[in-house]
This record gives sequence, C-alpha cells and structure tokens, in this order.
Amino acid sequence: MFRKSLNSIALLFRYAPGLTILKLLQTGVSAALAPLSIYFTQRMIDTAAGIIKDGGGWNGLALWVGLLLCAMLFSSAGGGFLNGILYIAIRRRLNIGMTPDIVGKFKRLDYACFEDKDVQDTLERMSRDPQDKVFQLFLTILGVMECMIGVAGGALIYAQAGWWFVAGFAALLVPMIWLDFKAADMMNTMFNEQSADERKMRYLGGLLSHKSSLFELRIFRAGEYVAKKWRALAHTVMDTRVKTTLHAQKYFLISTILFKCWSFFIVISLIASVVSGDITIGLFTALIASTGAVLGNADMLSHTVQNLRRRYLLMEHYHKFMSLPEIRHGGESLTGEPPHIVFENVTFAYPKTDVNVLKGVSFEVRRGKRVALVGENGAGKTTVIKLLCGLYKPDGGHILINGKDIQALDAAALRRVFSVVFQDFCKYELTLRENVAFGDLSKLHDDGALQDALEMGLARGIAELDTPLGKLEENGVDVSGGQWQRIAVARACLPGSAFVILDEPTASLDPVAESSMYHSFAKVLKNRGCIMVSHRLASARMADKIVVLSGGIVSETGGHDELMSSGGLYARMYESQSAWYAKGGAGA
Ligand code: ADP
Repeated sequence: MFRKSLNSIALLFRYAPGLTILKLLQTGVSAALAPLSIYFTQRMIDTAAGIIKDGGGWNGLALWVGLLLCAMLFSSAGGGFLNGILYIAIRRRLNIGMTPDIVGKFKRLDYACFEDKDVQDTLERMSRDPQDKVFQLFLTILGVMECMIGVAGGALIYAQAGWWFVAGFAALLVPMIWLDFKAADMMNTMFNEQSADERKMRYLGGLLSHKSSLFELRIFRAGEYVAKKWRALAHTVMDTRVKTTLHAQKYFLISTILFKCWSFFIVISLIASVVSGDITIGLFTALIASTGAVLGNADMLSHTVQNLRRRYLLMEHYHKFMSLPEIRHGGESLTGEPPHIVFENVTFAYPKTDVNVLKGVSFEVRRGKRVALVGENGAGKTTVIKLLCGLYKPDGGHILINGKDIQALDAAALRRVFSVVFQDFCKYELTLRENVAFGDLSKLHDDGALQDALEMGLARGIAELDTPLGKLEENGVDVSGGQWQRIAVARACLPGSAFVILDEPTASLDPVAESSMYHSFAKVLKNRGCIMVSHRLASARMADKIVVLSGGIVSETGGHDELMSSGGLYARMYESQSAWYAKGGAGA
C-alpha cells in the first residue's frame, strides 16, 4: 500500500515537479523542527540551570534561545503561510494538468466498459473530484512522513535517558498500529461493500426528487412505494455501518488503553529518575514534552494510516480507470465518393452475456438511400445501429463502408458517414445554439448552418438561437418533448454526414404523429441518406428499402409494395398494425 501510495507523489511530480519538491521539503523541515524545539528547550534549561549554579556561560544560553526562536519562527511561517500558498498552488496545477487527461480518458473509453458493474462503480467513484483524491492522498503521505519524523525525533530524545526507553516504546507502537490498521480495514471493507447499495439508494432518492419521475410517481401513487424501498435500503446500510463501527472501535479502544498505560509508566519512572539525580531537569522537561508529542504523533499516525488506506483505495480506482480499455479506431480515411454500407454475416452478443442478439445479419445500404430497419421490440435494431457507429465490435462477420472495415477507419471518417439520434437522446439545458452545435462545434457561430439544421429537423422557430432551454437559467424556455426531439434531429443534421440515423427518437409520439414526422424528415432529408429505425411499420412505408429483423437475422428485405405482395412477416405485421390504427389504437 505504501509503495503504491507513493505513486501519487509520482503523479503530482508529473504535473507540478517544483512545487512537489518544495512541499516535501517544507513538510520534512516542519516535522523535524518539533523534536528539535524540544531539544533546544532542554539545552536552554540545562544551560540556565548551570548559570544559576556555577555562573557565567551566557553565550551558550543565547545560542539555545536564538535557535529556539528561529525554530518557532520557521514553524509558524512554514506551517501557516508557506503551507497555505503551496496548497493552493499545487491544487491549481493539478486542476489545470490533470483535468484534461481525465476528460480525454472519458472520451476515449471503450463503450463496452459501461456494461460492467465493477467499472460503473469505478466510474462513479472517479467522477467525484479525482484531482482532489490524488492531492489528499499526497497530503496523507506527508502526514505519515510528518508523524514518523516526529516519532523518530521523540525516540532520539528518549535515547538520552537510555535505549530501553526507545525499545519499550517501539515494542508498544507496533501492536498499536496493527490494531488501528485492523479497525481501519474493517471500516474500508464495509464502505466498499456498501457502494452498490449506496448507488441504488441514490437512484431511488433521485426518483423522488427529479421532476419527471416525481410527476409520474405521483400520478401512479407509487411515490410511497419507492420511499419505502429507499427507507428499507437506508436502514440496512445504516445498521451495518453502526455494527461495523462499534466492532472497529473495540480495536481503537485497546490501542488507546495501551498508549495511556505507557504514558503513565514514563511519567512515574521519570519523576523517580529526576529525584535520584540520574537525569537533568532539562532532560526531564524534554522527556515529558516528548512523551506528549510522541503520544500525539502516534495517535495521529494511526489516524493518518487509516486515511491513507481509505484514500489509497480511492486512488486505486483512479489507476483502474486510467487503465480501462479505450476505443481503437483505425487510421484509414475514406475517399470522397459517397459511402456504401455493407453488413456481412454479423454476429454479436453484448459483453458479459452469452445470448447472440445478432446471429448473422447481412444487408446493404446504398449511397443516398432511405432505409427503414424494422422488427419487433428487442429484435436487435438499436444493436445494429450501435455496431454501425462503432460503439461495439461485432463478434463475427464484417461491417464495411466502401469496402473498408469500419474498425480500420479513423473517427473523423466515421463521423462524416453517420450522425445519429438515439431514442434516449440528450436534452442539454444550454442555449438552443449549443444544443444544435454539439453536432459539429466548428459551426457554433455559423448562424446560417445552425438555422439550416433546425430547418431539416423541422425545429425552426422553436426559440431564438441564444435562448437557454430548460429551467437552469432564469430566462430559460421549457420546450415540449416533441420539440426536444426535433432539436435532437437538427443536431444530427448539422455535421452534413452522408447518413442521418434516426433510432426511434419519436418513440414517445403516437404512431400517427411518428409516421407523419418521419414522412416530413424523409422529404427534408431528400438529398441525404437516412436510416430510420422503428417497430411501427407505417413509418417505414416511405423508405426506398425495408430491412426486417427477426430472430437475430434479416428475414426479409425490399420495398413496401414488394414485401406486402410476398405476404411474409412484414405483411402480417403491417396488416395487424393497420387494424390497430383503423380501430383507433394508441400504440402499436
Ligand atoms: P430493438 O432496438 O430492436 O428493440 P435492441 O437492439 O435494443 O432491440 O435489443 C436487442 C436485444 O439485446 C434485447 O433482447 C435486449 O434485451 C438486449 N440488449 C440490449 N442492450 C443490451 C445491453 N446493453 N446489455 C445486454 N443486453 C442488451
């Protein structure tokens, strides 16, 4: 643990080398000054006692008083002013240097990582101010160093009275630290084991405080049920916490009792020694002061070791995070010719599952065509889109664009081919301009391009470009669900990619509204390729080609009329859904 914790010094050294050395020096000197001050006091008292007894020797007294004053001056200047300045300066350097590295790692993270529960834990712990965790670990290591210097200094002062003093002290310190360590370990293990429950508690708490979920829970009168579930979980978490804390406190108690006994023994034996004249009055004062200081340092050492263990575990999450797999894009680009996409016998199971969602999917999308990907819920339509965007890698088969495997293409080439609106697209509580420009930030100030994208998303006139959306800003405009969808489509239209993929962003609309919206998009996007995903077949009619997914494979492809006349799955599904609309059903 100590060796690994030292990595935080290496990390800090990378971002702020000069300041780290300065902080190490300042801490070392400050820590050494405490036992030195006790020693200077001892010599000062003994010299003064000599003057009283034998006269003369004023120079010696002036020397020890001077040294003591210097030590006190440096302690207050180093411990207060310099410490404060270094604290702020190192934190600033860490923020400036480390934040881009962490953000960069988040951007490069392999999407499959998000499927892993352990990784989710790591990400959750990481997302809370990792710079501060590195810095706090560094400060804790300095704390341990300070305590050790203090204890070593105390031991040197003890050595003047006899090495048995030092040996007795060391024999006590080892079991004390072990006991404290054991207690800290119990507490840390408990905190780690409770992290999943804490995540659930936060989620349930969020349901009870977020506008949309609270609204729905009230309508369904399910708020009390969720609150009960939260209370039950909180009860379990708190009960375990109290039990473990009580258990751990027993170890702390034994260690405290051991130390109190030691202090009592020292005071009694020292009084005896000074009375019998074995030690000087100066040494007596120094030993008493050292006992207080060593007591404080040993107590602090056990606490700092506890902190070190806790903070070291948090740092482990940082190292784990930094070593998570990253998306690997190839380096190949595409020539200027319009893209032609081919799915060739693609098989795929989600990470950590053994169910093949796709069992050999093959189809192609010709340049500039409108393709509808249809199938029942769970047929694998979104999975096809995720593979197409390179979020996951196929387990078998190939996805080719103009004959090149998408894994060989660089990220910029892929971005020029697709832009996507997923079902759970983001609603950014920022300005309309930013909401659209996130599709291509190089056009953030290109009002013409932004307005064209809004036009394509059928979102023109929703608000002025610089109007904040949502409730975050005082003058923010709350837009409707349908308007957010149009804005998301505008965002996907902005980059001018060859294909716009709409993965049921309209799922919350009723089927008739969805169908008419898809018709409008198809018209506006007439010069672009478009891949539309829907399980509602009325929306698929306007497509040049319909790809029907069923049972993990493509069961049929063709135009609407062709598929209807072949009388297969598509025709059956279409007829049953049409009957729904004719009866006035609300959803397919
Ligand atoms: P569709 O878009 O056709 O409704 P999906 O592609 O979303 O279907 O899902 C296909 C299947 O894959 C479903 O059985 C779903 O439960 C499963 N699935 C989707 N996402 C994941 C995931 N992240 N991990 C494991 N299984 C998943």
